[in-house]
Amino acid sequence: MSGSTDQGHTEQGHVHVVADRDVCIGAGMCVMSAEDVFDQDDDGLVRLLVEDPADGTAVRRAVEGCPSGALRIAAEQTERTARARN
Ligand code: SF4
Repeated sequence: MSGSTDQGHTEQGHVHVVADRDVCIGAGMCVMSAEDVFDQDDDGLVRLLVEDPADGTAVRRAVEGCPSGALRIAAEQTERTARARN
């Protein structure tokens, strides 16, 4: 038994993240929070590098810090369900 779970989240859970470029205002906060997952194109708009990142903690921080609401966590997967998907 390790650590604590808050609100049913597991720290090791993969997340499926969605970025809406029509909503993004190019603030770049997401890149600062999770540079392995988010990037910005030449116009400053978010580019998703990984759709199912393993580091859910950093991604949640990025989603919460996005000022435009362009980022959304569509689903969370435990390691077990991720492995069960093929
Ligand atoms: S933090 Fe939000 S508004 Fe800023 S670049 Fe990322 S997705 Fe776009």
